[in-house]
Amino acid sequence: MLDLKNIKKDYILAGKPFPALKGVDLNFKDNEFVSILGPSGCGKTTLLNLIGGLDRYTSGDLLIEGKSTKDFKDQDWDAYRNATIGFVFQTYNLINHLSVLDNVEMSLRLSGVSAKERKERATKVLVDVGLIDHLNKRPNQLSGGQMQRVAIARALVNNPKILLADEPTGALDSETSKQIMELIKVISKDRLVIMVTHNSEIAEAYSDRIVHLLDGLVTDDSRPSQSVNDEKKEKLINQKTSMSYLTAIQTSFKNLLTKKGRTIITAIAGSIGIIGIALVLAISNGMTTYTNNIQSDALAGFPITIDQVVVAFGPPEEVTNPRPDLEFIDEDIFYPYDQTSSLTQHQNIITDEFVEYLKDMDEDLYNSISYTRGLMLQLVNLSDNGSYIRVQTSSSGGSFFGGGSYFNELPNNQTFIESQYDILYGEYPSSYNQVVLIVDDRNRTDITLLENLGINIEDDYKSIDLIGRTFKSVLNNVYYNEINGIFIPNTDYEQMYLDESSITLTISGILRVKEEASSEILDTGIGYTSELTDYLLDIEINSDVVRAQKENTSVNVLTGLPFNNQITYDQVMRTIGGNQIPVAAQIYPVSFEYKDDIKEYIDLYNEGRDEVDQIIYTDLADQISSTISSLINTITIILAAFAAISLVVSSVMIGIITYVSVVERTKEIGIMRSLGARKKDISRIFNAETLLIGFTAGVFGISIAYLLIIPINIIVERFVDVANFASLLPTHALYLIVLSTLLTLVAGLFPSRIAAKRDPVVALRTE
Ligand code: ADP
Ligand code: MG
Repeated sequence: MLDLKNIKKDYILAGKPFPALKGVDLNFKDNEFVSILGPSGCGKTTLLNLIGGLDRYTSGDLLIEGKSTKDFKDQDWDAYRNATIGFVFQTYNLINHLSVLDNVEMSLRLSGVSAKERKERATKVLVDVGLIDHLNKRPNQLSGGQMQRVAIARALVNNPKILLADEPTGALDSETSKQIMELIKVISKDRLVIMVTHNSEIAEAYSDRIVHLLDGLVTDDSRPSQSVNDEKKEKLINQKTSMSYLTAIQTSFKNLLTKKGRTIITAIAGSIGIIGIALVLAISNGMTTYTNNIQSDALAGFPITIDQVVVAFGPPEEVTNPRPDLEFIDEDIFYPYDQTSSLTQHQNIITDEFVEYLKDMDEDLYNSISYTRGLMLQLVNLSDNGSYIRVQTSSSGGSFFGGGSYFNELPNNQTFIESQYDILYGEYPSSYNQVVLIVDDRNRTDITLLENLGINIEDDYKSIDLIGRTFKSVLNNVYYNEINGIFIPNTDYEQMYLDESSITLTISGILRVKEEASSEILDTGIGYTSELTDYLLDIEINSDVVRAQKENTSVNVLTGLPFNNQITYDQVMRTIGGNQIPVAAQIYPVSFEYKDDIKEYIDLYNEGRDEVDQIIYTDLADQISSTISSLINTITIILAAFAAISLVVSSVMIGIITYVSVVERTKEIGIMRSLGARKKDISRIFNAETLLIGFTAGVFGISIAYLLIIPINIIVERFVDVANFASLLPTHALYLIVLSTLLTLVAGLFPSRIAAKRDPVVALRTE
């Protein structure tokens, strides 16, 4: 059955080969009880391990049923061990955390036997060796003889053709030794038993044949057999071992259950990162939901605005950047460039066509559309100190980007304004000749405006000092004097002030932006109604200056200069009231959802138009909410980064714990290998173990996170009055469990590879 041909085995010791076997020639028959006898250190265990395929010979050949094993691969040896060999060791080599039954079942698990059959067969052999009462005990609850019986049962459960016993009675008293030897003797009836011993009495009492070994050489053989070279009979290695993933997981599950404490600690360690990430997700989810609610509640009233000028900083122009390396050059070379080219400034030119287009928009989409006209007010006043003054409408002569203007037409939507502004004192204008004073959030008004309104500058004022103040709006015909076709502003303020046609405007109230308002939609200063504009436009259309300008479309009648790109005919006409087309518009959507429809409607208008003719709108609400959501994103990313770090840390911890468990279970790995476990099986078991830990950690972490969300929400509700703020989406929870499982699996890959690579012989020698 087995043929050893000049088998040599060298151990490498300190870099030099140390011969443990120096050329062993032996033949074993199918059915005999052979004792290998020799003093300690002569190479008996080495020889047995070689025969059992646990270790590899250095040279020579081992023939199994006449078949050379020179070309055997790891998996062939594994299959050979699992199906053909049963090992019994001096120190029993039982897995201590498994029950007697599980120990015996182990090699059946490795060969993929079903659970039911495993139990039947294991129980049967255990009964055979006389352990019927001890199936569920742990090895450390048994006597030495009983443990060796378990080991024998385990060796026999696969019904191997060869039983290898390494000093099976070495650790037993003589009475127990006798019983064990009797048992082995019975077993040897129908298989080959090779037993190693240094006890010649036992060898002589029980075995059919005694081989003497000394210093790695056979010195005597009581009944040498001839080599049987016929490749007859059934094949010895007829089955590859195969342990399914399910079995691997069951096995690891058992392992984990037997070490509950360690498993729980590992899972807790692994769950910390998951808890962190889950909370971050829950909170960021809460923030997003919260802002979405704000959006549709508070921002729904915000108009889509079409301003006169839209400014954006575009990408730097290629043309003005002749060389890409244009920074800090050391050459005598200088470039011109157009500063405004990188400033994308779009002039929205609202036309009749566009106004008509807006009129055609579905009226269900918007509450109102309000327009701002370009008409410039001509204002004069009688100041507190008795002098007549001209009221400057903006801070520096002309206004830049519409800013700096003290007098602005109010959007024609009182409801919306009142939703964003408090009327501190007085009332909202109810007729065209009433205006409001808009102060800033600190109740301030610009000093220049006060001066222009003729108010003496004091440290502070009462509302009564401001409300009821008046100034006058002068009509074109009074304001302009024609001299040689050019219309020159009148400077006789008293005359203008006292003219009958001048309209007295009264400050009826003071507005201030609400503390909780999302944005300041009104400029501070004086806000006048669109009724005033309409009123004035009606009159001015027939004024002299407008008529004169209408007749002369090429020359600006205010200056006598021809029109150019900067100052156009249309602009001047709008300023003096000859053109009623608005310069800006605000569209108030009915609801947040309709906003997109309105935008689409305007986009449709732009389609196919030249860029200059396009209307660029601004969605203030969108800008506000995108600022908020980008803020949330930033916070989320920062929090997630912290959580990710803890995730990495806990993964590393799991890796280390797995590694420690590999180290502490080295012996077990050796035992499993001796039972025919492939490297693959070992790594599968360890991988399955980390997989289970990762899964447990994930589930545990998610549960803790869900629990933590409860107090978090209570606290949030107490402070900001938002119920159910943090909430973890079930899909996120699921992802996190998968993530945890995968991460720990990855963390365990390296240790499990180490485990798989353990040399079984070395592993068995470790205690
Ligand atoms: P026995 O079982 O007969 O007591 P062994 O087969 O265990 O002897 O060992 C034979 C010789 O090989 C001994 O000298 C031992 O020290 C040596 N040896 C055994 N295993 C190793 C090893 N893994 N590395 C180095 N030397 C070893
Ligand atoms: Mg030995």
